[in-house]
Amino acid sequence: MKFDLHIHSCLSPCASLEMSPAEIARRAAAAGLDGFALTDHQSARNCPAIAECARRAEIACLFGLEVQTAEEVHTLALFDTVDQALALTDWVYTALPKRVNDPETFGDQPVVTADDDIVELEWRILAMGCRRTIPETAAKVRELGGLYLAAHIDRTNFSVLSGLGSIPDGCFDAVELSRTADAATWLPRADGFAVVRSSDAHNPDDVARVWTEADLPAFTVGALRDAFSRKATRLSPRLTAF
Ligand SMILES: [Zn+2]
Ligand SMILES: [Zn+2]
Repeated sequence: MKFDLHIHSCLSPCASLEMSPAEIARRAAAAGLDGFALTDHQSARNCPAIAECARRAEIACLFGLEVQTAEEVHTLALFDTVDQALALTDWVYTALPKRVNDPETFGDQPVVTADDDIVELEWRILAMGCRRTIPETAAKVRELGGLYLAAHIDRTNFSVLSGLGSIPDGCFDAVELSRTADAATWLPRADGFAVVRSSDAHNPDDVARVWTEADLPAFTVGALRDAFSRKATRLSPRLTAF
């Protein structure tokens, strides 16, 4: 199976407003992926819509969020169900800065339906870190039955390696390389963790530009957990030009 585990919808303040759940599901299916995950910054509130859009586009989907932790590190939480992702969202929301989002500075944060109607503009600030640490978040994700990944470990900001210098023990199920990371350089730095490569798409054209492959009986958290434990993932080529 080919999958892209890191995609942002219009709810993420830095993502294109063209990234509606319907557009993402269409693009992911058209690109030939077997599955993908929606991972907006600090929130899974567009996951109910993506569930419906993935069903319509006949593609498998996982539900998640990209948690920006107290260490200012980006991490991915992935779940089988919308309810699990929304439960983690509630837990993250209680630890966000007590500020109202300023769309002029950070961007709009629309919660939308599967038919592209705006339900609400999320007022909470999703562009900033929460007070939850990586170990606390790892424990919560585990309690909820999800997978926890260190995002884009090759990046010079918001990554475990740039922020902490190493990958903390006992927290992550796998680590992620960004679309341009040279695998030969970065795989040795993955510390024995399973590695995935994801698009981190913020624009429609970036959905599935890179991907990960694994032999999975189904696109589920359990099957991915098993593949990660066996380090049985294969990465697409990196992008060398944007
Ligand atoms: Zn990130
Ligand atoms: Zn991201």
